[in-house]
Amino acid sequence: MTASIIDGKMLSAQIRAEIALETADFTAKTGVTPCLAAVLVGDDPGSQVYVRNKQKACEKAGITSQLHTPSAETSTEELLALIDRLNRDPAVHGVLVQLPLPEQIDERQVLEAVDPMKDVDAFHPENVGRLVQGRPRFLPCTPHGILQMLARNDIPTAGANVVVVGRSDIVGKPMAVLLMQRGGGGDATVTVCHSRTRDLAEVTRSADILIVAIGRPRFITAEMVKPGAVVIDVGMNRTPDGLAGDVDFQGVQQVAGRITPVPGGVGPMTVTMLLHNTLTAARLQTS
Ligand code: NDP
Repeated sequence: MTASIIDGKMLSAQIRAEIALETADFTAKTGVTPCLAAVLVGDDPGSQVYVRNKQKACEKAGITSQLHTPSAETSTEELLALIDRLNRDPAVHGVLVQLPLPEQIDERQVLEAVDPMKDVDAFHPENVGRLVQGRPRFLPCTPHGILQMLARNDIPTAGANVVVVGRSDIVGKPMAVLLMQRGGGGDATVTVCHSRTRDLAEVTRSADILIVAIGRPRFITAEMVKPGAVVIDVGMNRTPDGLAGDVDFQGVQQVAGRITPVPGGVGPMTVTMLLHNTLTAARLQTS
């Protein structure tokens, strides 16, 4: 059996077109153009590419974007002052701080400084708390993108055994929370694995849906996957032979029922959900 591909690029294009229509309608009714301010500290080439992609996607959807580029030597205080300015600017609806930040910056302090109403990445503790309590304001972009991929490909989560490999605050943890929530793309039986999990392969083989976010190229092999399972590969690893996921695509494709490619899988969906959150933020800030 060869798994069918879950095409994140195509689905993203479809959802971005929906968001563009919604944005045009919102702007026509309110006179407000949603605006995302991106903060890119330093000159990491990977981060530059991510931010550029996000800005391009905004523009195509009728969302304006700003780019703020403090130098790699900037201090926490300087960054906090910038965030404060963006929080106060009524023309800015979403504030995104591209990670990772240079070592001298207190990342937690910076992320907590973003106004929760403008926190389109959903990293602020208030938004994380709301998510855990099942009354989210914004859904975190990567897990939300994955829920959309499942729902729009008619892959039911209710009652499914879902294994999430990775427990980061950005992907694994919120993914597990969303999947275990009542209703709305949740109702799954969720197991979360990490670097201390005993016999990882035995756990991953129990998954109807396997979601992998560990940052290790091609780590999940065919023997770790139940035949017919849905495999969602979040990994984006730069290797000498190009971008690789956390899943050994060639091998796992022979076993799985459905699989996301890298690139062209989860990545574009993450950007798409950022657009969705920016429009939501503009709506919330426009009475
Ligand atoms: P982190 O480095 O923050 O977390 C990695 C997680 O994987 C940790 O929980 C770690 O366990 C676990 N882990 C590491 N090695 C193993 C192992 N051998 N067995 C089991 N678990 C392991 O990563 P992120 O969640 O931020 O990112 C993961 C990957 O996803 C990266 O490749 C990143 O580039 C990509 N990514 C892609 C996005 C997209 O839009 N497609 C968005 C965000 C990330 P422990 O906690 O015990 O250390």
